[in-house]
Amino acid sequence: MTPEPTVESVRDDKIRCDACPVMCYIKPGMAGACDRYANRDGELVRVDPHVVLDRTVAQGGSVVPFHRPGDWDGQLLQGSETFVTAIGAGTTYPDYKPAPFIVSSEIDGVDMVTVVTEGIFSYCGVKVKVDTDRYLGPERAIVRAQGEAVGHVTTGEYGSQMLSLGGVHHLTGGSKKEGRVTCDVLLDLCNGKPAELTVDDGATIVVQAGRAPIINGVVEERMRVGCGSATIGMFAKQWHGKVDEVVVVDDHITGVLSEHQAGKLLGIRGSGIKMKGRRSTPGRYFQVAEPGTGWGGTNISDPLSILGPFNLQEAWAGLRLLMVSTTGEHYAYYELDDRLMPVERELPASLKESVERIQENCEPALCTVLFMGGAGGSLRAGVTENPVRLTRSVKDALTYVTCGGAPVYVWPGGGITFMVDVTRVPDNAFGYVPTPALVAPIEFTLRLSDYAALGGHMDHVRPASSLGPSESRRQVPHRLDNPWPFAPQTARRSHG
Ligand code: SF4
Repeated sequence: MTPEPTVESVRDDKIRCDACPVMCYIKPGMAGACDRYANRDGELVRVDPHVVLDRTVAQGGSVVPFHRPGDWDGQLLQGSETFVTAIGAGTTYPDYKPAPFIVSSEIDGVDMVTVVTEGIFSYCGVKVKVDTDRYLGPERAIVRAQGEAVGHVTTGEYGSQMLSLGGVHHLTGGSKKEGRVTCDVLLDLCNGKPAELTVDDGATIVVQAGRAPIINGVVEERMRVGCGSATIGMFAKQWHGKVDEVVVVDDHITGVLSEHQAGKLLGIRGSGIKMKGRRSTPGRYFQVAEPGTGWGGTNISDPLSILGPFNLQEAWAGLRLLMVSTTGEHYAYYELDDRLMPVERELPASLKESVERIQENCEPALCTVLFMGGAGGSLRAGVTENPVRLTRSVKDALTYVTCGGAPVYVWPGGGITFMVDVTRVPDNAFGYVPTPALVAPIEFTLRLSDYAALGGHMDHVRPASSLGPSESRRQVPHRLDNPWPFAPQTARRSHG
């Protein structure tokens, strides 16, 4: 049970929640509009358990999870081995009140403090990376859920299409339904659930963090190995002597072995091939076809459609041509006949191996969801009387920011704008309030002396051990691939 927020008024046995601007009146036995707070026998309680992370340090310094079967076993919190997260901690709105938990612990002889709150983020969204070659829609196209605009397509990156969903414009700047649907989509994605999205003039996608995207009903299997030119660079040597020409078909950069620098260095003879599209540099062609869901993210199903007639002076009968996509999913093998026309033949075993090598080098296609929020607003007042000092302390790396104990990336520049990979955050860490806004855990960990120096609410600091056992507090093992929040410098690899 969380002591905050306060019960402001009583009317007909209803109690008023003041944990967000909605300020629900809640009847006995009922929950508020967000399902996060409820009236239990006249007492306002936070419905979800408050999560603390648990770890132990094995001899020799390596970190192992402290698997404690079942839920709370009544043991008091161990300062250095327990981290109090903001998940289920509650909110103290408006934020001039101190954060719900300001907890001190002694870590290796140093007094530390962790300030935790479930932040209410109207200014937030998710960045989604969809590993696919397939065309999802034009850059800047609107992404919709249930017909409502919830974001847009941004850039195509190496083997992936990026989407930007949410943000204050969709949450607050459109119709009531747009805000609600946007909030629902963000909440589902942040809590690891699937969301079905449609792109204007593009595809329908089912996105779920850590899962393969489903595009127009087809599960994407592979992320491409690289662009067509990169693929030539990677496999040119393996093709040498087994084939005379290779075209790696790609929507962005299609590669041609004999013209490519890798082919030149291997002494591969000119084949007289004629590519459609715009030649960029030797062996690299842009715009060989329109984008689509066919070969290499183009709209073609017949690879020969991107070739012109072979040069009669350079090409020769019997010339062996492999055409392959950047995932190895599509491939075809041809030999030129006496009229120098390509005739499809069965792929020789020696080339089958190289196509399989391309496939093997592709990584599994996944969706990655990063929650992004700005914690530079009034939430800081729950931490310190002088909010800008918290921002400076974060920028000076005196304060370590985590989201449910998971490491975050803090953007340079003003404010505390952070991103977190939602798969690294414990389950169901995110909530919502119908303003609409997302609720996300955020913790600030720093030395107690630094906390005092930045004007922290010192009179609200309580030792971790004072939290004691509670039905509504749950210990979960710390994830080994997340740095331990009290020792973030020990992480060799905290992202990706
Ligand atoms: S929506 Fe939730 S947090 Fe906001 S006042 Fe109602 S019960 Fe409290």
